[in-house]
Amino acid sequence: MTIRKTKIVATLGPSSSAEEVLAQMIDAGVDVVRLNFSHGTAEDHIARADLVRKLGWERRRPVGVLCDLQGPKIRIGKFENNKIELRDGDKFILDAACPLGNQQRVGLDYKTLPQEVEPGAVLLLDDGRIVMTVVAVKGPEVHCVVNVGGMLSNNKGINRKGGGLAAEALTDKDKEDIKTAAALEADFVAISFPRSGADIEYARQLVRAAGCQASIVAKIERAEAIPVLEEIIDAADVIMVARGDLGVEVGDAAVPGLQKRMIRMARARNKIVITATQMMESMITNPIPTRAEVSDVANAVLDGTDAVMLSAESAAGKYPVEAVEAMHRVCLEAEKDYDSQHLQEQRMPRQFERIDQSIAMAAVHVAAHLSKVKAIASLTQSGTSVMWLSRSNTQVPIYALSSEKVTRRKLTLFRGVYPYPFEQNTEDRDQILLDAEEELRMRGAVKDGDLILLTIGEPIGKSGGTNTLKIVKVGEHLK
Ligand code: PGA
Ligand code: MN
Repeated sequence: MTIRKTKIVATLGPSSSAEEVLAQMIDAGVDVVRLNFSHGTAEDHIARADLVRKLGWERRRPVGVLCDLQGPKIRIGKFENNKIELRDGDKFILDAACPLGNQQRVGLDYKTLPQEVEPGAVLLLDDGRIVMTVVAVKGPEVHCVVNVGGMLSNNKGINRKGGGLAAEALTDKDKEDIKTAAALEADFVAISFPRSGADIEYARQLVRAAGCQASIVAKIERAEAIPVLEEIIDAADVIMVARGDLGVEVGDAAVPGLQKRMIRMARARNKIVITATQMMESMITNPIPTRAEVSDVANAVLDGTDAVMLSAESAAGKYPVEAVEAMHRVCLEAEKDYDSQHLQEQRMPRQFERIDQSIAMAAVHVAAHLSKVKAIASLTQSGTSVMWLSRSNTQVPIYALSSEKVTRRKLTLFRGVYPYPFEQNTEDRDQILLDAEEELRMRGAVKDGDLILLTIGEPIGKSGGTNTLKIVKVGEHLK
């Protein structure tokens, strides 16, 4: 059985709302769905999450739910005729006091922009498609000259080249949306445009205060986040390489290097990383990806990302199921090369601080050197020992058997980890271990004669750190 290690996150939207389509996407391999809070109502999001949970339940496979908060995306207002065309050299005014735009000016949803820019600042609109330079600021008006023109329509985003806008990471809308995320029991809450570790800590407080246990995802998409990456990664559980806005702020050419650096840093700090945006962009309108897109997804896998993400491809494209299938196929193939590169390079620090880490590393070592090991099965409450296993690049699939729903769902993003529900219905240690073996056999993960490495916290049944490694030969107890 070949199983994909890299996880697939798919954004939901109009193209993936129908139950049949969503079911096909999950069957094609979606591990986590992303609900984009920049669009849709609380009711939409709750209904989507319910449907995803139902489909996962029917398949006995947890599918994670990630709520992506809009954050302080700065946008222009609307136009009288919905859009205008700007030519190179045109004068144009971003006017915080303008109710409805025209060929000369347009409003702003971020009223303090005029106080935060000065002549010479370069503004990028619509993900950088339109470029203008500030020539003067007069009260609420930012006077600009257009460097690169084009069609400009309602509510397009504005970024400042090089970053530097002061907008708070959490808006009033985000604070409301956190309540919706709590109501739908989000597994992940993504914070857009964080500037610091403190932004992430504050977001975590709000999420916990709303009664939500979600892991916190820091989207790295502002120029200011780059010098403080360590502190943001340490404060978060997961980071997202959010290449769309990031590319606008730091320049597109800087993104690939940053992607590699972020993946390396996240892995070294035992955090999870999602690589996102435009991965299969042409599949919005085409049934197959370009060679460049295939290469992009494969390279993220080769960098060691935990997950790759579909945005508009699955939310608003014509081929949401095909896009998942394409990602699945590309990840599987790229993992072969990744594995062969990392086979010898097991991460073995000389000194371990923790017992659970030592047991995990012992399992990884045995898996690499003892033939017939087909599975590592971790009986886990919190998922901590599973993190060590996931970061180790082991070739053997890691099954996390947990009775904790929150833990199982969190693990849907971990590279190489497959979370399964597992109730310990007895106090009898031997029976629990046999049940674990049976669970893996029933799912087709192992067959008679295979070896399983079981990591356990003893005394079993009580919550406590993993302290035991047991090697089980499947079917042996029947003899
Ligand atoms: P968004 O974030 O899709 O919410 O803008 C991702 C990105 O900027 O890449
Ligand atoms: Mn973004």
